[in-house]
Amino acid sequence: MLTSNKGKKAYELGGAPIKPALSSPPPPLTDIHAHLGHVGERLGLEELERLYKLYQAAWDEAKLKGIPASQLPFIMDIGTRPGDLTQRRKNFGSHPFVLFSAGLWPGREAFLDPGASLELLEADLSHDSCRALGECGLDYFHMEAECGAQIALFEAQAALAQARNLPLIVHSRDAFEDSLAVVSSLGGKIPVIIHCFNYGPREAEAFLAAGCLLSFAGNLTYRKAEPLSEALSIAAKGQTFLIETDSPYMNPTPNRGRPSSPLDIGRTYAFAASVLGVEPTELIDAVQERSFKIFHFVPGV
Ligand SMILES: [Zn+2]
Repeated sequence: MLTSNKGKKAYELGGAPIKPALSSPPPPLTDIHAHLGHVGERLGLEELERLYKLYQAAWDEAKLKGIPASQLPFIMDIGTRPGDLTQRRKNFGSHPFVLFSAGLWPGREAFLDPGASLELLEADLSHDSCRALGECGLDYFHMEAECGAQIALFEAQAALAQARNLPLIVHSRDAFEDSLAVVSSLGGKIPVIIHCFNYGPREAEAFLAAGCLLSFAGNLTYRKAEPLSEALSIAAKGQTFLIETDSPYMNPTPNRGRPSSPLDIGRTYAFAASVLGVEPTELIDAVQERSFKIFHFVPGV
């Protein structure tokens, strides 16, 4: 299993499915990228309730043991649409383990009136609960607006993140060069996270050289995802990677294709640990510490 494979790359193990080393119920672990609203729509409110209970129980237990706040698992609920923070706070804001970002995904809605969309975003960013700007970026696969318009909206959000000293969460699909050009202009002044990293080693090197972090989702565990494992190994050299679900999407093996929730993240942590030849707990602790630092987490706020 994981320990006996120490030192071997996961993709050198003959494609055998990695057994979850973590027993049920699934452990609540930090997930820096989830869309809880969509998780509820896809999996039902009961599943969200189960998730709340498990994370809350972990918090209650940790408090009894005097474990510091920096070690408590949290979920970052990600904004995608103009002015969507109010509703998300209403739905999830009572849970101390849920943090929020706000951002404009490069979709039709944001481009109807980009100026108005940015104004709504600025209002959301002013809220104390908002710990990051994103997701924003470039999507030349779905192509819901022409490239120039996408770049302009992305640049505006990158500038806003820099002005407010907020981490920037970047969506980049089939748009490597243009994404790199925008994030390079930030000069490493704020944390820039390439979320659901889905390029290869060459692109990983370039984003890392520009001062970015790479965040890996469940697609890391899929067959034929060797380039992602290579990218993870490269990012691990500088301790510049994070782990996420992008739930309800990207359900890690063996549940690929089914809707996911943050409770599925354990399998991605376990797979990443096997790729890097470390114990899952070691990797979980390191990513927890890094994630906490980036999002300046203050519990209970
Ligand atoms: Zn997302």
